[in-house]
Order: sequence, then C-alpha cells, then structure tokens
Amino acid sequence: MRLVSTRDAANGISPLQAVIKGIASDGGLFVPQMFPKIPLNQIKVMAEKTYAEAAADVLGMFFDLDDDFLRDMTRTAYAGFDTPDVAPVVKLNPVEYVLELFHGPTLAFKDFALQILPRLISEALKGKEEKLLVLTATSGDTGKAALEGFKDVPGTDISVFYPEEGVSYMQKLQMSTQTGKNVHVSAVRGNFDDAQTGIKRLFADKEFNKKVNDAGYFLSSANSINFGRLAPQIVYYLYAYSCLAAWGVISLGDRINITVPTGNFGNILAAYYAKQMGLPIKRLICASNKNNVLTDFFDSGRYMANREFFKTASPSMDIVISSNMERLLFEAHNRDSTEVVDLMANLSNMGSYEIDSSVYSKLQEEFYGDFCDDSATYKIIKSVYERFGYVMDTHTAVAQGVYEKYAQRSGDDTVNLIVATASPYKFAQEVLYSITGKTDDAPFGAAEELARITGISVPNQINILKNARVLHKSIVSKEDMASEVLRFIASKKLTE
Ligand SMILES: *Cc1c(COP(=O)(O)O)cnc(C)c1O
Repeated sequence: MRLVSTRDAANGISPLQAVIKGIASDGGLFVPQMFPKIPLNQIKVMAEKTYAEAAADVLGMFFDLDDDFLRDMTRTAYAGFDTPDVAPVVKLNPVEYVLELFHGPTLAFKDFALQILPRLISEALKGKEEKLLVLTATSGDTGKAALEGFKDVPGTDISVFYPEEGVSYMQKLQMSTQTGKNVHVSAVRGNFDDAQTGIKRLFADKEFNKKVNDAGYFLSSANSINFGRLAPQIVYYLYAYSCLAAWGVISLGDRINITVPTGNFGNILAAYYAKQMGLPIKRLICASNKNNVLTDFFDSGRYMANREFFKTASPSMDIVISSNMERLLFEAHNRDSTEVVDLMANLSNMGSYEIDSSVYSKLQEEFYGDFCDDSATYKIIKSVYERFGYVMDTHTAVAQGVYEKYAQRSGDDTVNLIVATASPYKFAQEVLYSITGKTDDAPFGAAEELARITGISVPNQINILKNARVLHKSIVSKEDMASEVLRFIASKKLTE
C-alpha cells in the first residue's frame, strides 16, 4: 500500500513515511492510493474477536508491518482502556445505538488513534539519528491524548498549544498536570484557530525549521491530518457494525446511518473511508455546533470560512477550517488533484470555495449536515437522560440533536449509530446543568453530584486530577510560539 498527496496523486510514499511527515511537501494530505476492500464475511467475524485483534487486521491492510508487531501494538495500545470492550455499543431503542469511544486514558475518542500513532512513529524511527519533535495545536482533547500517547516515547519530544479560553476546566487541568520527561504544554492567547494557524505558520517557517533541524530534530504533527490518526479510527466503525449484525439488530449487508459530532472532519472521514472499504453505510450525518460551516457546506456546496467564531459548550468542535475536508474533496472529485489544488487555493486566498453542482449532488446523497446550538444541546442531554437513562456529554448530544432533527424531517428509520466522542465527566458542569438546571462552580463538585444523581461513578481518569500538581503554566501570544518551542528544545538539550 502506498499513499499519495491530495495535491499530487502521482507520487506515492509508504504509510510509515507518511506518518512521520504528517503533511505532504506540496501542502496536501496523504490518502491511500486505493482503498483495500474488506468483504462482508470478514466484517461479520470481527465481533468474535477482541477489539485489538480487529484493529490489527484492519491496520495490516494499510501498514506493511509484521503481523506480530501489529498484534502486539494494538494489544498494548488498547490495554489501558477502562472496559474490556474498548469500544462498547449501547442500545437506546431498537433503531438508536451509541458507539462509546471515551473509555481510553484521556476519556475522548482521540485515544483510539493517539495510543497507536506514537507506536507507529517509534517503529518508523528505528535506526534513525534524528529525534522527532511533535508540534500540536489542540481544541482540548487532541492535546491531552497526544501527550499521553507520546509521553516518554524514546526519540520523541512533544509540544502542545491550547487556546487559553477555549478548553474546559477538566481539559485544561488534564494538560497542565501532564507528567513525562519529553513533554511541553503552553496556552496561547486566542481561540483554537489562532493556535492552529500559529502551528501551521511554524511548519512553514524556514528559519524556525532550520533551527529545529540544527538542534537534531525533524518536525511532525499529531493533528488529525496525520494518516496515522485516521487509519485507527476506521476500525471502530467496522467493529460496531459487526456487533450490530451479531446481535441481529441488522442483517449482514443492511445499510446503517452514522451520526458524528464533527470538528476537523477526521472522525466522520474515517467512517467514509470504512464505507469505501465496503462497510454498508447509507448516510453519514455530520453534526456541528453553532460553528456550522459544515452545515452550510452540505446545504449549499459552498465552504465559507469567513465568519464569526463562537465559543460553545462543545469546544472540541469549535472550528472554522475543517482540514480533513480536503480528503473528501479529493474522493468527490474522482481523485483529481488539480481540482483540489484550485479549491484549496480559493480557501486560502478568499476564505471560501464552491464545488461543482454534479460533485455536490453526489455528496448530498451520502452526507447530511445540520447543527445544534448550546441551548438545544442542553435540552437534548436532559431529554436523552429522561427517555433512556443515558448520560451524554455535550459533543455527543450535538450529534443526538442533529440525528433527531434528521429522522423527523426525512422519516428515515434506518438503524443509527451515534458516535459518543467524550465522557460526560469531561464536561461535568455543563451536563449537570443540563439535567438538573443547577450550576456548580466547582468542577469536581459537579462531577460528584452528577455521579450521585445518575449512579454512574466518576472515572478514575478524572479523580486523579484532583490532587495532581500543575506543572505547565506558560501562556504565550501567537507570535511567541516559535521562541517558546525553541526554549523547550534548548532546555531538553541541557537536561540530557
Ligand atoms: C476532536 C473531537 C471532536 C471532533 O472530531 P473531528 O475528528 O475533529 O471532527 C468531537 N468531539 C470530541 C469530544 C472531540 O474530542
């Protein structure tokens, strides 16, 4: 298997190389040269395997790695999850199911990929002299999951920037208390797009790159544009389908709908990739919060990034530029990279682009986009709790709200899978408020109150934060990110 750039479909590189590079030299994203096909009977038997075994099978279709290595990697990667099911599927009613992706060490779906990515990178780095410097901007969950994944991985150092005002109390505490000898964490003044733009600028900054190279490093990103993030996310869609088939909820071959709370378009794209590999999916429902650039895109075929940015109760979806959309555009244009280059040039020059009507109508058959603002999200959390006794976090509730609107409008009663991307305890104050109308200024108090009411105990991943020491206090402006990173690697040199 080779990967090609969305902006140059001619030149391929190996998936492991792509994982190290992160982004193609031409600015494009790496995509599989072709999708491996997974036959239905192979999907069927996944439910009989452990999640780690299923993951090794799927990753082996992309990565040319030794089977023993793959099995060992996925086993250790998913051993730290707090349930043996790893990705449990939970029934709400006969057509509505929830895929819980928040049982990893950082309580968000990002763990599925970020427990794998550092292990792939470590393998790719074997025998190399240079060290890898991972630079990442985070809207909350990526940063912590990347820190946990990369902490103390030999040959790597990691630097994470999060928007000062753009993450929840628990998310901030998870990052500022991060341990590990090779980690650096800093807040950036501004919102997520400021932090992400700052990181992109560093990757493009020749002088900065030279300094980093001179210090013995090469740069990579753990952001969701990395192919090593995408591939592990394909697994759980196949696995969940296999479980639904094994339970008799669907017959093998029946199509399902999948509703994904979406930000950078990575998670929903992985579902689309699963579909390209043969998973029977009818509609992919793209759920946004008030930052509804994707809703407008699926409504009109126009991507319009020049718009107001809102801070919401689902901060990991507070995004205006969904980077992984470039990969969907590539497929939608029948892998014509010249089209992608044009659209991306329009996006960077004018802040918008419009796709051809024939391409748009194809996308409309496969996708549906809608959004929920915060007050609708709070109502959904309450009503889901009252109807099903199930507690959703703010991101998952956005998906549920959008799904319910879709089902009502379309009359589509296809079995639906809601993708639950974070534990409600990561956003305990908002969830408690939604269910009880009570506000609690103390985040841990809110978590305990929520546990008392719902009977679902506070995860240990939250409890340990209570007494953890804050180790990272730096706050910088966007302009100072380069010097902050250079200070970090200089300090590493001194301690080695
Ligand atoms: C990252 C994240 C999302 C958005 O996922 P994308 O792959 O960026 O679309 C949604 N919910 C939670 C909790 C997240 O951490």
